[in-house]
Amino acid sequence: MSKFLNNKLFHYLAAFLFLNSNTIPVKSSSALAAWALNGNGVLELRTKSNTNLKAYFQKSNQIYGDRFWIDFPGELKNPRIIKGNGPIKEIRLGKPNKGTTRLVVEFKKETYLNPLTWRIVGLDQNRWRIKLFRPKYSFNKIGEGLVKKRRGNIRTSRDSNFMQKKTYDNLQLPNVKQNKFSVVIDPGHGGPDPGAVGIGGIRETDVVLEVSKIVKELLSEKGIKVSLTRKSEVDLDLPPRVSFANNIDADVFVSIHANASRGKRKDINGLETFYYRGWKGRLLAKGIQKQILRVSPGSPDRGVKQGRFYVIKNTRMPAVLVEIGFLTGRLDARRLEKNSHRKRIAYAIAKGILEYLSKVG
Ligand SMILES: [Zn+2]
Repeated sequence: MSKFLNNKLFHYLAAFLFLNSNTIPVKSSSALAAWALNGNGVLELRTKSNTNLKAYFQKSNQIYGDRFWIDFPGELKNPRIIKGNGPIKEIRLGKPNKGTTRLVVEFKKETYLNPLTWRIVGLDQNRWRIKLFRPKYSFNKIGEGLVKKRRGNIRTSRDSNFMQKKTYDNLQLPNVKQNKFSVVIDPGHGGPDPGAVGIGGIRETDVVLEVSKIVKELLSEKGIKVSLTRKSEVDLDLPPRVSFANNIDADVFVSIHANASRGKRKDINGLETFYYRGWKGRLLAKGIQKQILRVSPGSPDRGVKQGRFYVIKNTRMPAVLVEIGFLTGRLDARRLEKNSHRKRIAYAIAKGILEYLSKVG
């Protein structure tokens, strides 16, 4: 965390907010100076530099609609309520307790929200943004004060790409001993073999390669030696994948795949993770399965199973094959199309591996 917060340009906190939870803190860094909720659903904030802020989401109940709120250090002078429009019922500024300012965004009951995709992004030392709803809702901007900085300090688009790249930063990933472990990630299929082809032509080979590369990046940042069995669209048979992992005597082997259902049924979705033998393989599979389910709400848990797939049967280290969703399923395919979801899945797989290594390694 400290390494990340030292980065002067971008403070970022990835936060997974879960739909069913009551109250989940989203830690972030920055007292409220100005705010604006824009027509495109993006809430922008300007705060004092170097303060911490925490964000929360709570599902609707009999009294309130869905609420999102952020607490800022420092007490607010004039609590107030600002009437909303479109999907927003109202925005409240209050002091829930001494020394704290709270900005509450309350949504109207029928608003569709997907808090799982919400991320507070720090644009610089004192500016933040979070996208709360889609532009399909017509909404007239509400705000107080000036959130934009002086022109000279506005970030270039190149910088914002960098920010995008960091949206799956590994703040909450467990630490393991540096330079101790070696992991092989095996993106399924490749080249002439596209694997499963799903809705809208989405191809397994593309999805799993991208996810694998992100897993590699996340694990590498934790001091793990990570090798991919393929780095591009090449034809790669199963035996060389196995012998590669066996030859370097990897600690863990994870083959990443996506599913297709017979008859391409759109109603079949879900995640599953296979191992072939051993309690270690099973433990690794359970850990990964648990994490990928967390980032795929609504997608069925097809379980951790024993499977006789070549790559997990013939590798000598704890090995699993993870199916990250059905490309033929409406729910899974729509998600796996998106970069943001691929990153979350990669993050989840990396987390599963790291937790395993920190326990067993
Ligand atoms: Zn496959």
